[in-house]
Amino acid sequence: MKYLIHTFGCQQNHADSERIQRNLIGRGMTKARSFKTADYIVINTCMIRESAENRVYGLVNNLGKLKEKKQVKIIVTGCMVGLAFRDKTGKFLKKIRETMPQVDEFMPIEEVGFDFAPVRNNRTNAWVPISNGCNNFCTFCIVPFTRGREISRPFKDIIDECLELKKKGYKNITLLGQNVNSYGADLILGEKNIQVMRDINKTYFKKNPLILVKDKFRINDKEIKPVYVKHLGRYRIPTLFPILLDEVAKMGFDKVDFISSNPWDFSDELISVIARNKNITRLIHLPVQSGSDTVLKRMNRWYTQKQYLNLINKLKKRIPDIRFSTDIIVGFCGETDLEFKDTVKLAKKVKFEKAYLAMYSPRFNTAASKAFSDNIPHPVKKKRWQILENLINVPNLNKMVV
Ligand code: SF4
Repeated sequence: MKYLIHTFGCQQNHADSERIQRNLIGRGMTKARSFKTADYIVINTCMIRESAENRVYGLVNNLGKLKEKKQVKIIVTGCMVGLAFRDKTGKFLKKIRETMPQVDEFMPIEEVGFDFAPVRNNRTNAWVPISNGCNNFCTFCIVPFTRGREISRPFKDIIDECLELKKKGYKNITLLGQNVNSYGADLILGEKNIQVMRDINKTYFKKNPLILVKDKFRINDKEIKPVYVKHLGRYRIPTLFPILLDEVAKMGFDKVDFISSNPWDFSDELISVIARNKNITRLIHLPVQSGSDTVLKRMNRWYTQKQYLNLINKLKKRIPDIRFSTDIIVGFCGETDLEFKDTVKLAKKVKFEKAYLAMYSPRFNTAASKAFSDNIPHPVKKKRWQILENLINVPNLNKMVV
């Protein structure tokens, strides 16, 4: 049997596909060169935007024509299936079954899991997933529904995998997760307690200061004190990410990168780790999504423009050669011209090196799709997208050409 994996979406999906590949090879299959020569096609899907979802329907529809000519199995996995199996109403599973009757099996990505060693096609750069899922529930985002709650990989597994990569001569490592800088919160608190801790009254830690000192985490018989990130005047969650990043950086790779981090979990300890390890990336990806406080509130992003800029300035002060990339959504529900101008202002201040710009599209089950209306006309979204593209990405493209 010959397999072919087609991957849509982010690096996390590509990393998952590397693990799926191991699973298929383990089952005695070999890699096909094209769809035409494959007997077993796995499509790893993305749902972050409506356009990504539509591309999956388009591909499966085309593969259906291939199926009429030869025997081929079509397996769909990834975000679409994650959502379908988590949606208790069963509506989404019904929808994808009806839209893609050509599919033989909808396989949840959990069946691949973290347990398979990836088949790496690149001999220099390696992606290392450190966590999966997200607990943040930004109102526009489908990730908590497609990938579920954040689950961190055991610390030792990640360290072992990185040491192995070093031994094999890999030069560059990228640690992956939807929210890498909250890595380990579930390992320390237990999965169920994270939301509880977030919702603890602000005065709780003032009354119980010892909990911060007492909490310890054991790795290889070594006691580690997790980092408590203080945000908006309260301790949010404990995380092991600064410790993990430091350990990986000390292994001596040429470059250590991490994607993605959230502004509200960016601790001072993490800044210190980046500052003292010269091989950690100087291009930090820090999604802002909007520069307007009111839009950020509607998005359930827990910072203001001022707090985001304070973090940027703190990073610039500690690490003078630091640069930034970001994600921005234009045309989010009710975004006025003035609110959009705040995003332009912020972009001018930060001088991002690159921005992944998206025009808002409602996603199944998200709070925004239920509570707000997608009321910004497409031409307005397109215009705003172009303004930011011209401001951020085009000048940087020109610089690269020069
Ligand atoms: S932090 Fe927000 S945008 Fe990022 S994956 Fe989680 S819910 Fe989505």
